[in-house]
Amino acid sequence: MRKPLIAGNWKMFKTTAEAKDFAAEFKKIYVSSDIQVAVCAPFTQLEALKEAFQDTDIQVGAQNLHFAEEGAFTGEISAAMLKEIGVDCCIIGHSERRQLFGETDEMVNKKLHQAFASGIRPILCVGESLEQRDGGQAFDLVRSQMKAGMQGLHADQAAALIVAYEPVWAIGTGRTAEPEQADEMCGFIRQVVEDLYGEEAADKVLILYGGSVKPSNASELLNMGDIDGALVGGASLVPEDFIQIVNF
Ligand code: PGA
Repeated sequence: MRKPLIAGNWKMFKTTAEAKDFAAEFKKIYVSSDIQVAVCAPFTQLEALKEAFQDTDIQVGAQNLHFAEEGAFTGEISAAMLKEIGVDCCIIGHSERRQLFGETDEMVNKKLHQAFASGIRPILCVGESLEQRDGGQAFDLVRSQMKAGMQGLHADQAAALIVAYEPVWAIGTGRTAEPEQADEMCGFIRQVVEDLYGEEAADKVLILYGGSVKPSNASELLNMGDIDGALVGGASLVPEDFIQIVNF
């Protein structure tokens, strides 16, 4: 049985003071259930969030880590540094990082290995642009991002992986994928995992949808068979919005 996960992606929003306010508000309205909840925050907010959520089952995630174990990489943060402060999971290969910061599939792959080596659960983001969708390349592109991103992982790592399908055209645009469209791609991703790692890994891998998920569309998306949760950007910034998605 896959336990659904609702993960917030705060991107580059909130100071530490604002993060603490969010945590205090969210804890008042959050009730632990069968749904896993994570908040993926900027690096400087992670420790404060771990502390604020220590008496809850709310997980804390980062939004990036470096692809090397350590070294002369000015300005970067390693998986071990995140693990030391108790970070549970980490978004890897978000489309904004791929587009704006030149992250390649090869870097994404190395980052997944670093995350697993430190015991941090990676959230691998994949998804096509509007041009690729309109050009009929969405499935090929997602398959190639999956294959390259997962290169060299063991089956047990594949089973523990979280994948987020985030069509680039739906991120921050208010334009959500149709539930059937999102479910179709999430089912396809599961099939790719099965082809590469077998049925057991495919049954266990968590596949999230992300892209303009909000309180008004969360339940129809999350009730689709192959969608195991959501990666939520804008709507994760406000406790009252995020809780409605968690309680879908
Ligand atoms: P959005 O962002 O929910 O604001 O569209 C999702 C994401 O980028 O993870």
